[in-house]
Amino acid sequence: MKNIIVAEAQGFCWGVRRALDIVADHGPVSILGDLIHNKQVVAQLEAQGKRVIHEISGEEQNPIVITAHGTEVKNFERAYSLGKEVVDTTCPLVSKIYEAGLEFEALGCQVLIIGDRHHVEVKGIASRMEAPIVVNDETELAQATLPEKLGVISQSTFSPKKFDKLVELIRPRVKELLVANTICAPTKKRQIAAEELAKKVEVMIVVGGFHSSNTKKLHAMAQQYVESYHIEVCDHLKKEWFEGKQEIGIIAGASTADWIIEEVCRRIREFETP
Ligand code: SF4
Repeated sequence: MKNIIVAEAQGFCWGVRRALDIVADHGPVSILGDLIHNKQVVAQLEAQGKRVIHEISGEEQNPIVITAHGTEVKNFERAYSLGKEVVDTTCPLVSKIYEAGLEFEALGCQVLIIGDRHHVEVKGIASRMEAPIVVNDETELAQATLPEKLGVISQSTFSPKKFDKLVELIRPRVKELLVANTICAPTKKRQIAAEELAKKVEVMIVVGGFHSSNTKKLHAMAQQYVESYHIEVCDHLKKEWFEGKQEIGIIAGASTADWIIEEVCRRIREFETP
């Protein structure tokens, strides 16, 4: 029988769980964007009359829910100007990133955000800063013009190793550098778990939304060590991935429900049945 090892750090992170609990306490709501990057859970919410919206038109049902990774200031302003009620589920660890950036600005630094400029969380952070620079990788950093005094913060789900590397590349380019590693603890824990597990198995299955930033980073991390596949649900698994392999590792992103992980394990066991 194959040995299936599920990483300890898996399932919803507490910020996502908290957001889901808040939404569960409300009846019909309009959720601005995906509450979590998990299509299956979003479908369940929609079945309960909770609608996902992608912009605030004024026509949507009240209240409007801001998701765990926050949103741009302009969306709060628009909702209030239209007389909407807002349920803000922004994760407290994301709010801490806002605070870190604003503190750096108060100390006279321009803020550099390490993260994906297209991600809702980074857009939300950037909207609170005066003139933020956003870089996601070494190429973007090389192209950025840096000021003398710089304060660096990070998207909560950024890769800790990549963050450290980018900070070291920034250091010789500025006179004064302040750094707040604002990668959240659940992300760090998960990245470490992915790395440790990838080192000891023959194939890794990374479970989570295809658009989930933290899941994509787990997959990238695992790929450095072992054959790794990113799936959303058990139907994406292929029997041939496991042929001749005995040690199988499973890790999930922050938005992946426990029942999805259980289904993945069950399906891998079914592949063993002749
Ligand atoms: S990944 Fe981290 S910052 Fe994002 S919701 Fe979860 S705990 Fe909060």
